[in-house]
Amino acid sequence: MEELLRRSEKLTTVGQLAAGVAHEIRNPLTTLRGFLQLQRENNSFSPQHNEIMLSELDRINLIVSEFLILAKPQATQFQVKNIRNILNDVISLLSSQAHLFGIEFKFEFEPEVYKVHCEENQMKQVFINIIKNAIEAMEEGGIITIELFRLSREEVGITISDQGIGIPSENLPKLGEPFFTSKENGTGLGLMISQGIIEGHKGMMEIFSKEGKGTRVDIVLPLAGEQNINDKGEDPGAD
Ligand code: ADP
Ligand code: MG
Repeated sequence: MEELLRRSEKLTTVGQLAAGVAHEIRNPLTTLRGFLQLQRENNSFSPQHNEIMLSELDRINLIVSEFLILAKPQATQFQVKNIRNILNDVISLLSSQAHLFGIEFKFEFEPEVYKVHCEENQMKQVFINIIKNAIEAMEEGGIITIELFRLSREEVGITISDQGIGIPSENLPKLGEPFFTSKENGTGLGLMISQGIIEGHKGMMEIFSKEGKGTRVDIVLPLAGEQNINDKGEDPGAD
């Protein structure tokens, strides 16, 4: 398995991000404007153009809503949560979609309860992004394995493995860069946002992948409270 992505230094600055968003939104806007102008000049309505205009609008909407997740943290609260419940919620949320593609989830966890200081919705967003990527990589179906285990006295580990198409080695360095996508309808924002959220929780995320074999995402999070001898009960997102 090839290693990749433990690169907080690669996370872009707000300025670079803003430029990227502007660029991504300007393209569909330009298309929209062109078609609107054409319709006005010809005084005609084209169903095909209308179709394209709608899909360009959807694209803008998707990009904006993914970015809203990044804007949320200020308004949210860190709480001590059982990470297994969060994973269970996400698995139930995505299981009907997964079933459609012949995909089964296998959730393996230890009996111990692992409490993590986290913003629940953000944490869910991370798991949704990663599991969705796994689903999208497995058009032929298969098993997505989610494991939850103690990694050390202070940390809990979560791995999400798929049996999908994998990632070509030349693409590995691009993962987590905003707007890098290999999908026709991808935004290329999911991994970057997930990485940002995990870092906001003082955790780590790494991706291992082999083309044609599958992909595994490893997440490490600090345990909260008495489970973590180093934890002082502070809000990990406060500094
Ligand atoms: P998007 O899903 O919109 O393309 P992401 O940031 O979630 O954006 O992922 C970026 C790219 O990383 C994907 O387009 C894909 O090429 C690759 N990728 C991520 N996860 C996986 C996976 N589980 N299997 C194969 N490729 C993946
Ligand atoms: Mg994605």
